[in-house]
Amino acid sequence: MAGNLRLKVVDEAFKRQPVAVTVPKERPSEYFAKYVFNKQKMYKYLPADVYRKMCDVIDNGAPFDRAIADAVAQGIKQWAVENGVTHYTHWFQPLTEGTAEKHDGFVEHDRKGGMVEEFEGKLLVQQEPDASSFPSGGIRSTFEARGYTAWDPTSPVFIIGDTLMIPTIFISYTGEALDYKVPLKKALYAVDKAATAVCQLFNPEVKKVVCNLGWEQEYFLVDEALFAARPDLVMTGRTLMGHDSAKNQQMDDHYFGSIPGRVENFMRDIEIQALELGIPCKTRHNEVAPNQFELAPIFEETNLAVDHNMLMMSIMKRVARKHGFRCLLHEKPFKGINGSGKHNNWSLSTDTGILLHAPGKTPLDNLRFVTFAVETLKGVLDHNGLLKASIMSATNAHRLGANEAPPAIISSFLGKTLTDLLEHVEKADEDALSVASKTAFRLDIPAIPELLIDNTDRNRTSPFAFTGNRFEFRAVGSEANCASAMLTLNTAVAEALTSFRERVDALIAKGEAKETAILKLVREDIKYIKPIIFNGNGYGEEWKREAARRGLDCETSAPLIFDRYLDEASIRMFESQNVMTRLELKARNEIKWETYTKKIQIESRIFGDLCLNHIIPVVTKYQSMLIDNVHKVMEIFPQEKAQKISKENLYLIEKISDHESFIIENVEKMIEARKAANHIDSEREKAIAYHDTVAPLLEEIRYHVDKLETIVDDEAWPLPKYRELLFIR
Ligand code: ADP
Ligand code: MG
Repeated sequence: MAGNLRLKVVDEAFKRQPVAVTVPKERPSEYFAKYVFNKQKMYKYLPADVYRKMCDVIDNGAPFDRAIADAVAQGIKQWAVENGVTHYTHWFQPLTEGTAEKHDGFVEHDRKGGMVEEFEGKLLVQQEPDASSFPSGGIRSTFEARGYTAWDPTSPVFIIGDTLMIPTIFISYTGEALDYKVPLKKALYAVDKAATAVCQLFNPEVKKVVCNLGWEQEYFLVDEALFAARPDLVMTGRTLMGHDSAKNQQMDDHYFGSIPGRVENFMRDIEIQALELGIPCKTRHNEVAPNQFELAPIFEETNLAVDHNMLMMSIMKRVARKHGFRCLLHEKPFKGINGSGKHNNWSLSTDTGILLHAPGKTPLDNLRFVTFAVETLKGVLDHNGLLKASIMSATNAHRLGANEAPPAIISSFLGKTLTDLLEHVEKADEDALSVASKTAFRLDIPAIPELLIDNTDRNRTSPFAFTGNRFEFRAVGSEANCASAMLTLNTAVAEALTSFRERVDALIAKGEAKETAILKLVREDIKYIKPIIFNGNGYGEEWKREAARRGLDCETSAPLIFDRYLDEASIRMFESQNVMTRLELKARNEIKWETYTKKIQIESRIFGDLCLNHIIPVVTKYQSMLIDNVHKVMEIFPQEKAQKISKENLYLIEKISDHESFIIENVEKMIEARKAANHIDSEREKAIAYHDTVAPLLEEIRYHVDKLETIVDDEAWPLPKYRELLFIR
């Protein structure tokens, strides 16, 4: 019987032992970045002048001089070959959420009949992968399938196994971005420029502002034997059916609990590999749900942090298999159990320190702090719908608004200290603004308590929370490329800061003193940003009504949320900051809708198969057994007595029939809904049809499957149950 497979894999999972980890003899600080061609290696392997030029590229954003490409490639090759490397690949981030690579060997003919290890500058700098199999949203016509990958020298090359990995950007033949990295880099440039201009109001010495990202990656581990026995997990990354386990997370006993042995070895293993690749892993712990965990490195410059997150996700998946696990990065693998997110801790800093760090040493420093906090919030308010679109996906949609993660409305939690401070600045006496004389300028900004950074009045329900020296964008999905959220946030903030500087300059031109102008505008903006500030419970029904009253975007349908990318205000923002063009935005949306449709389509197909080929046959067999039993009872007992004895079984037989017919009828209906949707030409309309007609049926049918799980003989049930998937480790 099919059920035997489940029991067999459960047994296998229970018996699995921890896999030993080889711990390096050196200390972490010694093997950190061992496989990264960082500045240290550059210093060793590159000629002095080339090394200096590379530093200028990395530190100051100087353009990469093609003339040094051969020398750089030479140095990299030498280092790589010394480390046993035989192949290289351009590593890029197409719009599929994952990463892509195409490996080539170093070997070339030496023209003497032998082979030689070759790696020229031009191979490092640029390649032309046949990109027709990556999504382009119609930018590339089929006759011009070429795309270019070009080295991003600000993200160092690294080694995995026998392969040299070269982080690259990916653009079309006609120059449009086909990846996340190009617009991210442009957004980081935009925010640097805009923030530097505002910093210079306070300190003319500031030359550069860097954006930092510290991500916290949540994930689930499931034993690989159990995983393999769940076609839905294998094909879609989430369970499409499964009744609640009697125990799940209600005891709150998993969060920060002790880490089980097999998992601990897995964590140790990924940390070692991550450290060797220069990813500064620091924190690991259990999460709220059973078998859910989190990993967080120390924050880094955003472009690098994004690459490191992409790399980390692939390390996690690979190493999990070595330990007999599968790593689930899906935002919502289990219904009724907390999903996984990826908090994006975001801040801006100059070489003098973090801009969102309070308190400053002088009132002017504090005014700068308030300016940056307020203008960030202005960007978030002006584009709250767009920011939601930047984190939305078919998979993340299950998590948002499910009373466990931020609601599907973007708002910001500031905590008491910052709220009070803004209120004070807003309401301060007009006198405070007076410029008595140039030297005796009074800035009535109160001292900000030292404790701000450690303040613990955290609000887990807020999608965009201030946490002392940074904002945490918490709505980002666990599976997502952080770049999508980061490029949108940074462009929005860049727009707010650009306009702030222009407004200050306009007031100064009218004869206003600089500080007075700044303070005046900050006070104006504090009033303006009020709708985005919400310190209450984001899960409450009341908040939904209140948010709508405030004019915040409350849309919950993913395909409609994507529309925000094409709002005129969004296009203006991206174009004015030179991040993306209208054409690029349109193309990206086509991909978003298409991806959404495909995900629901695949889920619906697998689900239909599971229902008809796995569940119904087992259920029918069980029902036949019950019918058989009733017949036999009828044979040996007088009618009245037999009726009484068989009462429960007759009830179950009927119940099973009801569930079965609902499932069969509606699977049919779901197939029809898919067919109808597939006939629609427009990607947007098709995605909407999938959202409105196909997705709801998945949920409705599931209810009946889950009910059957509680009725049918446990020995016969074919798919590993929640209690097995979630508690074996
Ligand atoms: P939490 O309490 O939110 O779980 P953690 O300490 O686990 O916080 O991680 C928070 C993340 O935020 C880490 O990656 C940390 O390096 C990062 N972080 C701390 N300060 C900043 C900052 N100023 N800017 C960006 N990221 C930061
Ligand atoms: Mg956090």
